[in-house]
Amino acid sequence: MTDIRIELTKTPKAKPTNESQLGFGKMFTDHMFIMDYKDGAWRDARIVPYGPIELDPSASVFHYGQEVFEGMKAYKGAKGNILLFRPEENFKRLNQSNDRLCIPQIDVDFAIHAVKELVKVDQDWIPSSEGTSLYIRPFIIGCDAQLGVHPASNYKFIIILSPVGAYYASGLNPVKIYVEPSYVRAVRGGIGYAKTGGNYAASLKAQQEATGYSQVLWLDGVERKYIEEVGAMNVFFVIGDEVVTPELQGSILPGITRKSSIELMKSWGLNVVERRLSIFEVEEAAKNGQLKEMFGTGTAAVISPVGELKYKDDIITINNNEIGPISQRLYNEMTAIQLGKTEDPFGWSVVVE
Ligand SMILES: *Cc1c(COP(=O)(O)O)cnc(C)c1O
Repeated sequence: MTDIRIELTKTPKAKPTNESQLGFGKMFTDHMFIMDYKDGAWRDARIVPYGPIELDPSASVFHYGQEVFEGMKAYKGAKGNILLFRPEENFKRLNQSNDRLCIPQIDVDFAIHAVKELVKVDQDWIPSSEGTSLYIRPFIIGCDAQLGVHPASNYKFIIILSPVGAYYASGLNPVKIYVEPSYVRAVRGGIGYAKTGGNYAASLKAQQEATGYSQVLWLDGVERKYIEEVGAMNVFFVIGDEVVTPELQGSILPGITRKSSIELMKSWGLNVVERRLSIFEVEEAAKNGQLKEMFGTGTAAVISPVGELKYKDDIITINNNEIGPISQRLYNEMTAIQLGKTEDPFGWSVVVE
């Protein structure tokens, strides 16, 4: 597991001096990890200076979108160590995406090892102020130099790192969400459960038209009535004494923050239910005063409270546009575990050493 060749940069870049201006994914560290798939095996694992890669213009990824990715974070832990959050979940999911896109499987343990080695090489880039982290973006692209539609025989598995700022500049702020009535993101049997660029390409138009709203909430692709998920977040609703999240049925991305939130809330004794939930039920619950909270879950923001939903002509205000108690507690406890500030009864945190 140590056969990663390391070539260090001779021209390190200046590190960001103002962590409050990092934003998301705008700046990259000095190194990247690359491994090639060729002649039936992954080979030539290496950490090299960050920079452009050369691809044939006919490469599969450019024409038929054979691509998968992951998103995870490294944190500067409370004890000064470096922590990852459930990295094996990310690479297991990458393999599920690989399977759907006909991309060869990667070795989960080796991929975690590669992340750790890369993060160690660029550890001085991990920001430390409240809410910041080092975002990790593993991805795989098809690289065959020919135009026929077929699963490629050549791939690159690449990992890049980006120091990212606090998602919320001033504490947890509820966001406004636009419920998309016409466009759909994914259908069952399609690629909705895979983390692949095509799903995002399909979502841009709706997002562009939803001016004034921070994200789009997708409804199911058949009846356009059942709640699916938001741009890059899974969603939860507190209705009466139930915490409801749409069940995973093939068109929704199985979020790791979603899974962790369900496990945490169940450990508190909350009644968490995975089931179908229609937008009409949400409207009805809002009218009856039963809709108490709504929040999104995802690696980028961790927990994102929702203060307003717009569906056609109906504007639903949730919890007076304020963060609710369950959203706040989830955010506090999840980030405390991620940063190693509290006990980790689930064993989710992984130390980079
Ligand atoms: C990545 C992603 C999520 C969130 O998944 P996490 O593992 O919690 O970060 C949700 N929906 C979509 C479409 C995604 O791509």
